[in-house]
Amino acid sequence: MQRRKPYLKSSRSNESIIENMNIGDINIMVVKKDIKNMHLSVLPPDGKVRITTPMSTNNETIRLFAMTKIAWIKAQIAKFEQQPRQTEREYVTGESHYFWGKRYRLQLAYTTKANSIRFTGNTVVLTVHKDSTTKQRENYVNEWYRAELKKRIPPLIEQWEKVLDVKVKDFGVKNMKTRWGTCNAKASRIWINLQLAKKPPKGLEYIVLHEMLHLIEKNHNKNFVALMDMHMPDWRTTKEMLNGFVLDKYEGITRSDDDDVDE
Ligand SMILES: [Zn+2]
Repeated sequence: MQRRKPYLKSSRSNESIIENMNIGDINIMVVKKDIKNMHLSVLPPDGKVRITTPMSTNNETIRLFAMTKIAWIKAQIAKFEQQPRQTEREYVTGESHYFWGKRYRLQLAYTTKANSIRFTGNTVVLTVHKDSTTKQRENYVNEWYRAELKKRIPPLIEQWEKVLDVKVKDFGVKNMKTRWGTCNAKASRIWINLQLAKKPPKGLEYIVLHEMLHLIEKNHNKNFVALMDMHMPDWRTTKEMLNGFVLDKYEGITRSDDDDVDE
């Protein structure tokens, strides 16, 4: 294997140090900050590799860690290259947009009053102010997705609270690039990825259950898998469906599997 000299560049900000490291032909961004464990991610849209580590970890340890994961990293990058991915959306007439797993053709309309979203057949009519920017249209559509999720999540939480005998104190929706959801078991709080409103509803059902099971079992161990199998026997099919569904430009769920539990 060809060994290139690692080039290290440091830039210091308030809470983190960012360095670059090369392993073979793979460039890795190393982010050192005030955390307990090392985390590896391959980021969308083009498979940038990032390792976040505690401040005190030395570069040799990081290098060895990365080398043991090189096969996984390469597999993730390859997966990105194969996955169908939308280009950046401009919210103009003719574009495709996904709502609950269905593809709609966007038709833009103008108003001087309130924005709205309306579905008719395979068309979604987005009515906005004429002078609105792409960013404003995007924000409006994202708020629609968020509101939809906030309607659908509470009944799912209620359903599983009874079955699992757990309590979710709080939940939220946020746009995440690399995780479908997270769970903070100590605070009994779950976060759900806004992108799930674009996928078939089964995906949301699966992720809500998955995150809630972390209130019982923190790790993705045998017990966790057994619980998943018991409560949603077809979860593997749903997971595959989610990971194969058309992605947004900056989306890519590539965290290694035990990474969705907040410390
Ligand atoms: Zn998990």
